[in-house]
Amino acid sequence: MKIRFALPLLLLSSAASAQHLVSKETFNAIAQEYSGEAAQENTRQIIQYHRIQGSPMMAAVAKDVVLPRLEAWGLEAKIEQFPSDGKTRYQTHISPMAWDMRSGELWVESVSDQKDFVPIRLCRYSDVPMCVSTYSKGGEWSGELVDVGRGASDKDYEGKDVSGKVALASGYAANVVRQAVLKHGAVGVVIYPAALDRPDHPDMVRYNGTWPRAEELEKTSGGFQISANQYAQLKSLMRQGAVRVRGKIDATLGAGSLTLVHAWIRGTEHPEREVLITAHLDHPKWSANDNASGSGAVMEMARTLHALIEAKKLAPPRVTIHFMWVPEYFGTMAYVSNHPEARRCGSWDDPRDPRDWLTPERKQLIAAPCIVADINMDMVGEDTVKTNSRFYATRTPDSVPSFLDALLSDAMEQTREARLYAPTGTHNYWLPEMIPYTQGSDHDIFLGLGVPATMFGHDPDWTHHTSEDTIDKTDASEFRRIGVMASAATTWMAAFKGDDTERALTLSGQATRRAARVGQSLAVGKKFGSNAWLNFCPLTETIRDMQLQMETVKSDRGGQKPCFILQGVSHGPLPSPRRLTLLPISDAAFESLSTDDKKWWAEQQQRFADDSEGLPTKPNFGLLLFEAINFMDGHRSTAEIAGLLAAEYLLDIDQAWVDRLVGILAAQKLVAK
Ligand SMILES: [Zn+2]
Repeated sequence: MKIRFALPLLLLSSAASAQHLVSKETFNAIAQEYSGEAAQENTRQIIQYHRIQGSPMMAAVAKDVVLPRLEAWGLEAKIEQFPSDGKTRYQTHISPMAWDMRSGELWVESVSDQKDFVPIRLCRYSDVPMCVSTYSKGGEWSGELVDVGRGASDKDYEGKDVSGKVALASGYAANVVRQAVLKHGAVGVVIYPAALDRPDHPDMVRYNGTWPRAEELEKTSGGFQISANQYAQLKSLMRQGAVRVRGKIDATLGAGSLTLVHAWIRGTEHPEREVLITAHLDHPKWSANDNASGSGAVMEMARTLHALIEAKKLAPPRVTIHFMWVPEYFGTMAYVSNHPEARRCGSWDDPRDPRDWLTPERKQLIAAPCIVADINMDMVGEDTVKTNSRFYATRTPDSVPSFLDALLSDAMEQTREARLYAPTGTHNYWLPEMIPYTQGSDHDIFLGLGVPATMFGHDPDWTHHTSEDTIDKTDASEFRRIGVMASAATTWMAAFKGDDTERALTLSGQATRRAARVGQSLAVGKKFGSNAWLNFCPLTETIRDMQLQMETVKSDRGGQKPCFILQGVSHGPLPSPRRLTLLPISDAAFESLSTDDKKWWAEQQQRFADDSEGLPTKPNFGLLLFEAINFMDGHRSTAEIAGLLAAEYLLDIDQAWVDRLVGILAAQKLVAK
């Protein structure tokens, strides 16, 4: 029976596969050429380097590994550098100092009254590169350990004297060093894991950094990270007496460069426009999935597409395909700040376009950025079983509605149907997902420019930002699937014919999304016992266009506050704030708020905390802030922006909230009222 049915079943499955945007011929050509093993091997080469933003090792991996390979494959490629010195700003971001890291060790040297105590080594950089806090200042120091809890705010130091001693803390190293060393006179810091942070991996060391600014260089110091087991060992020693540790770091902090690598496959019709593929090349030595994997996968993409075009198995692209390996955030922010064409095709100086005097046709032609879309590959090589994670691609937020979501979900489905494995990879079952916009990598910067952008990644990966993120957690099969999916989507975009397709797809993408959201809000209404007034007034053109007639769900708990209300918009002369800086905005920009503003800010951080409530699209404050500012184009009123945010995230946000936010941003000169 089995044998008899094998053939018809196969035929059935291929006949049942749907039509896709990317043609079968193109997809198959890519799937046959793209090698998961090659992407994994690129990754293996990259992880030999301690690749910290602005560091000489980051320049070395760009010059020794990425560039020569691209050139050997026949691609047009080059290195680009920008100053990085702890004081040069790119928009609101202060570039990191260059960190030349050579060696580091941390020892427990004595416990009081124990004469025959044998010193214990807690960290050696050459064994576990992540055990030295990134950007630690070189030097040698020793002192008694004082546990200051999180150690990131003044109250952690009340009744404790760390002067001339070593702070033992669980907070973020940059904050701990600023408090313990700069404010309270500690000589160095030792960071241990927070109590509930992955307790089932007690030997894991976390990634952490001190991020000193140029003006702090003289006073700052260095830090080390220890595992949960090492912390337990220290606590047990501290119960026996005063514990002294000695840290020694051989490193130099100073002026250096952010190093980027570019490669291009030039477009035949519109070389000035480009599909951009990004991956951040930085992160500590051995760190594989984050993000040597994205970098290695993009290298194999460049090789694959170039080789297929050379062999005439793929048509040359109409628009340029641009590959870019960057120091995360800082390198990308420096790049878009220094390349006007990344922000706007044409000669506009304003980082955001002054659209007023343009006809709609002109807007379409001129006012668009030269970047058609960005696919940002960040953590793409995971063995999904070992890391207990699944692959995702993020959708764009409502501030950048785009065809990209529809294209990617189709390419994802096509890749799933192809059942791709690599010869040396796993046969893990593949459950990829399209997810709402999530922040935290270079796609954020392009979305802030109005460029449709996505992040490809894996989540929840328990090894993320730890010493457990190693090459054995990668999988050639996963590399192959994601490399093929990204290459297929890229090929389709680079063959773009014109604005009409783009517009049509944008609209259909929006329509699907709005419809889904309406369905979702109804479901949420049900969850809250039908206690929801779904009052979608004509908030946006899109909604008006679609004639979304929202029904009011009758409250059966009359008198109680509905779980959310979407306010209607009154028209007339309304305040229409406009951004004055590129997004995202660094936290550093909010350090000098007035007391009142600081209080409101803290309340919002509390209200929109990461893990509060369970709504499916509940944003944290950082995300809400990003999206609110991205809507501030000088044309939308604060009432409209409130309506858009409320509709996007199903939140009770009103005009007063947006006005309050605009007041704070305007005081910091980040938006114009
Ligand atoms: Zn990353």
